[in-house]
Amino acid sequence: MVELKFQGYASLKPGEKLQPWEYEPAPLGSNDVEIAVTHNGLCHTDIHMRDNDWNVSKFPLVAGHEVVGNVTQIGADVTGIKIGDRLGFGWISNSCRVCDACLRGEENICRQGYKGLIVGNHGGFANKLRACADFAYKIPDNLDSASAAPLLCAGITVYNPLRTYIKYPGAKVGVLGIGGLGHLAIKFAEAMGAEVTAFSTSSDKEAEAKEFGAHYFCNWKNTEQIKEVSGTLDLLLCTVSSEIDWNKAFGLLANNGVLCLVGLPVSTLNIPLLPLVFGQKAIAGSVVGGRRFMKEMLEFAAIHQIKPMIETIPISQINAAMDRVVANKARYRIVLV
Ligand code: NAP
Ligand code: ZN
Repeated sequence: MVELKFQGYASLKPGEKLQPWEYEPAPLGSNDVEIAVTHNGLCHTDIHMRDNDWNVSKFPLVAGHEVVGNVTQIGADVTGIKIGDRLGFGWISNSCRVCDACLRGEENICRQGYKGLIVGNHGGFANKLRACADFAYKIPDNLDSASAAPLLCAGITVYNPLRTYIKYPGAKVGVLGIGGLGHLAIKFAEAMGAEVTAFSTSSDKEAEAKEFGAHYFCNWKNTEQIKEVSGTLDLLLCTVSSEIDWNKAFGLLANNGVLCLVGLPVSTLNIPLLPLVFGQKAIAGSVVGGRRFMKEMLEFAAIHQIKPMIETIPISQINAAMDRVVANKARYRIVLV
């Protein structure tokens, strides 16, 4: 029998640059599907994973979890998918399916712990990918593959908390960190009817943030501008990938306001209790989203034509692409082809 190998890009050790790497895929399970990968969004999480920032990475690591491709093989028990279909995979590749959270469509908080697409498995930075068909998403026809890929992690990660915490039209929503997640958050929040303020350390992002739908732009380093907005936000969605001054972020909330964290620097919060209690404020975390919300998000993005602003780069230049993200130069999501 001819040995089957997939060709990917792997980091062999924590922090190491990626290199071409061949590997034997796990056998196609009866519930699995195989796709020929065409597009991969480059999420900052792929870089945290390469650097083993969270101590969960297994090496050699083939990352990539905003994946779109076309079906090449189908497991014996898979229904509703045919060869050639255009499918996407995101961060979650499986869950227990029977706990209360899974039954509610919140596999992202599965009580057994969900399985991550690139945690101990090979992800999308390869010519092919095999994973469970139940966690594959059909891409709506009016979303091109390059635009759809970043929605599968960045998109769902911001959509989920925005749909949860935007309680009324005109709610005042801040988005802190205008990168891959943040620029999509502006677009989704605006489409959901919020009044949106973009908070950024990069003053050159102001014009684009307003084109994405932000009503106001605030320079995170400008004390005067920050003071003006203090105490006004119903929701602040923080997408920053590095340590920041959490008290400064918390201070932006109005009474009843929610500080929702999705960015994942390794950090600890030290928030003053009295303003939290007397202002009835809340601090929340949010992690990607379950299948029900993924489907809803893709349909919402298709109807409202919410697409990321992307830079398309050949996957052979993946290390240069990662350097661009680390240097905060990507505008606003790199898609590897
Ligand atoms: P990204 O494209 O690199 O964007 C991060 C943005 O954070 C930057 O564009 C920058 O925005 C801001 N930033 C970076 N360093 C900063 C600093 N020192 N101080 C203040 N702002 C800073 O990253 P991403 O792909 O959007 O991912 C963002 C974070 O979300 C990562 O930590 C990633 O792992 C995490 N994530 C979480 C989930 C989840 O489910 N919770 C899912 C996906 C990703 P400005 O230039 O506007 O300041
Ligand atoms: Zn991601």
